[in-house]
Amino acid sequence: MPTSYEASLSYAQSQDEIDILFPFRERFHFPKHEGKDVAYFCGNSLGLQPKSVGYLMQQELDDWAKYGVEGHFEARNPWFSYHHLFSERLAKIVGAKKEEVVATNTLTVNLHLLMLSFYRPQGKRYKILMEAGAFPSDQYAVETQVRMYGFDPEDAIIEISPKEGAYITEEEDIIQKIEEAGESLALVMIGGVNYYTGQFFDLKRITEAAHKAGAYAGFDLAHAVGNIPLQLHDWTVDFACWCSYKYMNSGPGGIGGLYVHEHHCSNPKIFRLGGWWGNDEKTRFKMEKGFIPQNNAGSWQMSNAPVFNMVAHNAALDIFDKAGIAALREKSERMTGYMEWLLKQVKHLPFTIITPADPKRRGCQLSMLFGDRGREVFDKLTNAGVVADWREPNVIRIAPVPLYNTFEDCYRLYEVLMSIE
Ligand SMILES: *Cc1c(COP(=O)(O)O)cnc(C)c1O
Repeated sequence: MPTSYEASLSYAQSQDEIDILFPFRERFHFPKHEGKDVAYFCGNSLGLQPKSVGYLMQQELDDWAKYGVEGHFEARNPWFSYHHLFSERLAKIVGAKKEEVVATNTLTVNLHLLMLSFYRPQGKRYKILMEAGAFPSDQYAVETQVRMYGFDPEDAIIEISPKEGAYITEEEDIIQKIEEAGESLALVMIGGVNYYTGQFFDLKRITEAAHKAGAYAGFDLAHAVGNIPLQLHDWTVDFACWCSYKYMNSGPGGIGGLYVHEHHCSNPKIFRLGGWWGNDEKTRFKMEKGFIPQNNAGSWQMSNAPVFNMVAHNAALDIFDKAGIAALREKSERMTGYMEWLLKQVKHLPFTIITPADPKRRGCQLSMLFGDRGREVFDKLTNAGVVADWREPNVIRIAPVPLYNTFEDCYRLYEVLMSIE
């Protein structure tokens, strides 16, 4: 970390001037506060709207009006194959082959579908290891999956927590739990980046340990995709799923995505629930009996592509592609480092940063745990046009997103904190 950081507006602006990604901010709509763009630190909850979405949405409306059903093949982006528009760009973001990913369904739905494939309890191998305090939807999904097979969640779900008094969970402890569970373990399913603390887990190491125990490893990447470069294929991760509306800026409830390693995709014995869009494309319209899954991640699709829900994803992934994952990560580390340093200069407010200090163990999120006054600080930020995120009971999460946040935004946040008596 540079030792030359300065808590001044001119320093922040000088960093923006040398930032090659600075112009990307122009591609997004910003909410306004008193007529000025807000400092938007909530991209980990709902990313901003790319300006190109409106135009691209209108294009689909026009094609529908002009072609009717023929739009499946005649539209500028034919709807029949619309989902194919995403695979290559998504594959780069998650570090996979394009056959291993598909944009489909939504996150929790995909988690269930993938667990139906990769959580197949047999004999004494029926347990799932996950992190304690996981995102509620993941907790409900895992709980109801084990119940479906007649197990008691208290017994079948192994939760892993940080050590007493700590906020982050050590990989060592996860590995140890996996080894202890041994032959009883069917699946390790954790969030790649914890939504609360912002901790990024060593997915490669966890996957290796799961495989050694004879279990599958799958990850919910809601807070990891578009935030941290991933190598799912090389890490031999079995499956993963994510949403697109957080760091990927693809709109509220936007299309989700999933990844399945090629050695599972191409194995028709891996069970998957059938739908026509998951069927082999060559026989899809023969309307015959017998589900023949595609030999790629597309086989986890059910229905035809929800085009209007995919337009924003198309727009947003183009922006990612132009910016490039490596450049985004480089800026992300620099800007998050600056934000963290600024927060550490704020000595008069009672908070601790519970996100790992090591850049390798986090993305761009920083979580501030308050003793008291958390809500008051959050309200002051909001009133000053700084959009952060409040999590009960007392955490303020902020995410300086490299695509559209600036060093000046970071300084603005700091300035509000300093102005609080
Ligand atoms: C955002 C988020 C979800 C939301 O799930 P949806 O099905 O998209 O509503 C689920 N899990 C995690 C870890 C998340 O961060």
